[in-house]
Amino acid sequence: MAQQFEDKFRRKFYYLRLSVTDVCNFKCTYCLPDGYKPSGSKNSSFLTLPEIHRVVNAFADCGTSKIRITGGEPTLRKDFTDIIRVIADNSNIQKIATTTNGYRMERGVAEWKEAGLTHINVSVDSLDPRMFHQITGENRFHQVMSGIDRAFEVGYKQVKVNVVLMKDRNHHELPLFLNWIKHRPIQLRFIELMQTGEMDDLFTKHHISGVTIRNQLIANGWILKVRENNDGPAQVFVHPDYQGEIGLIMPYEKNFCDSCNRLRVSALGKLHLCLFGEQGIELRDLMQEDAQEAELISRIQMQLQNKSVSHFLQEGNTGMTPHLASIGG
Ligand code: SAM
Ligand code: SF4
Repeated sequence: MAQQFEDKFRRKFYYLRLSVTDVCNFKCTYCLPDGYKPSGSKNSSFLTLPEIHRVVNAFADCGTSKIRITGGEPTLRKDFTDIIRVIADNSNIQKIATTTNGYRMERGVAEWKEAGLTHINVSVDSLDPRMFHQITGENRFHQVMSGIDRAFEVGYKQVKVNVVLMKDRNHHELPLFLNWIKHRPIQLRFIELMQTGEMDDLFTKHHISGVTIRNQLIANGWILKVRENNDGPAQVFVHPDYQGEIGLIMPYEKNFCDSCNRLRVSALGKLHLCLFGEQGIELRDLMQEDAQEAELISRIQMQLQNKSVSHFLQEGNTGMTPHLASIGG
């Protein structure tokens, strides 16, 4: 194995979030309120299977054991199952996850599992179908729910459900969500709304801190679980009376970046050291031949030394990121 990816603050990187497309068929108010618009730039084709294979091999050779396939909506790629296969081909990758809006899950999840997908996150911002429609711009609540049922039928032991927490939209749905996971092995992940470059007053109107949820959970006997080294950024709570779990992702909390263990590669092959704050470092020219792996690794290692200690979101920085679909949320 080449030297483990590590930055100058001694953070080690076990987890790669790989975006495979910027395109999305939903119009979430906090992400793509007007729907996906092609950037119009030349050479904007998304990473090919051989390129994905090479970048995955380079990361795996430097200690990466978990890859999340994201986007945009990753399952819009016709070769989505092949992408899973290509990643699963590398035996150092122990966890292959995806984050999806769930619209294709009912049809596709059996095939994804067979190809090697080990973990699924699906976004469900409300358990009220009308509110779901209002937030995502798509009347597909029941379709997404059937997809979750199907994931359990084909053998997933747990499904993670992402909920972007929004004041006056879904923050009052905690009891409904708790009831839903009482007898279901679902890990709900409440994500604090993050401000991005193209967001207008939505953040000011709807941002609410995850602390309100954390306080309610602690008061009701929920207990914080210990983190593993390739875990995501969530604080996970468990309760003896519930089969499900609750994860809180609170990027505005002090010290959020201390446990950062992840890097991102965009659908156009740029390395992003953080979700916020930079334009991305070109890697694609070094994904063209297997023989370039050493050079690819050395470029990543060099760039990692510039990774900032924090995203400074808590100080009002929104960075360069126009919306999370552009580099994979
Ligand atoms: N399309 C897929 C989906 O929605 O699950 C994957 C990509 S999406 C960018 C990944 C995750 O980021 C989703 O759970 C979404 O809700 C979340 N997200 C997008 N924009 C966000 C924002 N401004 N603040 C917090 N979470 C956001
Ligand atoms: Fe699409 Fe996901 Fe963004 Fe919603 S959050 S618009 S589903 S990329």
